[in-house]
Order: sequence, then structure tokens, then C-alpha cells
Amino acid sequence: MKVKRGSSKRVSKKSTSKAKSIGDKDLQNISLVKNVLFKPARYKYIRKQEVVKGCVFCNSSKSISMETLCVYKSDYSMIVLNKFPYNSGHLLVLPQGHGGDLLKLSSDQYADLMATLKLACQAVTDIYAPAAFNLGMNHGSSAGAGIPEHLHFHVIPRWAGDLNFFPLIAQTKVVIETLEQTYQNYIGYFNNRVSS
Ligand SMILES: [Zn+2]
Repeated sequence: MKVKRGSSKRVSKKSTSKAKSIGDKDLQNISLVKNVLFKPARYKYIRKQEVVKGCVFCNSSKSISMETLCVYKSDYSMIVLNKFPYNSGHLLVLPQGHGGDLLKLSSDQYADLMATLKLACQAVTDIYAPAAFNLGMNHGSSAGAGIPEHLHFHVIPRWAGDLNFFPLIAQTKVVIETLEQTYQNYIGYFNNRVSS
């Protein structure tokens, strides 16, 4: 079943009229997923409701933990789980230092960020074996960045059968992993990498 991008109101109305034909359980699944995955406006709303003092990404740089969602730190960069993932395994790769301008990174900071981005791709590949990735950054609020003051790359594993960047098929198995499971996957991976 496909849900059109940006059509949450239409989905809701159609959902009522088609309840018998597609099943209440399907509707519940769609409703559940669309609030997290299909509605960028809702996503921003949820983030704004969080009570986090200061920058949420600077908070993530304090420690590697489930609480901060940070799973790896290099000299200047870090890998953090997206609290509201577009797909299971969704990572954010970003500088530990606060700042929203890629051009202001030093050469060492930039090189470290790129190396960490590659490492994140390797981790996603080894753990989730995706068919492809979305790699990208919304640089600045006008480009769509949710937190423009602290730049961050998205690393999103993709599989055949899901749709474009935001809209995903509701019944896709890969979206049902919990954040705790994702955290354990990455922590185990990076711990093994350090010890080997
Ligand atoms: Zn910050």
C-alpha cells in the first residue's frame, strides 16, 4: 500500500472511508508510521516539544550512551542515532563542536568528519546490508535543516521496495526496529572494532 508524500490529511480521510477494504490494523500501522515518517511538519513539532537545554547535538557529544544516542566519537566528530529515524539504522554524522557552517571547519576537522562519515557507511553496511544509502546534509534552515545551528550528515540505509527519501511503505519490515535495538547494534559493532 502506498501513501502519497505530503498527503497526511487525505490519508486520514481516505482511511476512514476505506476502513473495511484495507483493514483496521493496516490503518493503525499507517497512522502510526505517518506521524513519524511521513510528516516532516510533525517531526519538527515533536522535536520542539523535547525539553533539552541548549543544543541537542552538543548534548550528544558529552558521552556515548543510550541517553545521548551517541554511539561513536572520533577526535573531532561523532556518530549519533536519529531519535526519529526515517528508516532503521538511520545515523547522523557530525562535528562534536557546535556550528552550522561546513566552510568554517578546519582541514583536520573536515578530514575527520569525512572519515567518520565513511566509517558510518561501513557500519551500516556491515550491520544492515542495505541495497543503497541516502547520504546528505541540509545545510542551513532554508535548505530544510531541522537543527541548522549544528551541521549534520544523514546516513540512511535503503532497501529495494521502499520509496523516495521521506515516504516509506508502511509494512516495510525494516522500520520496526526499536531505537534501543539500533543502539545495541551499533555499540556492539564499534566496541568490536576498537577491541579487534
Ligand atoms: Zn551544538
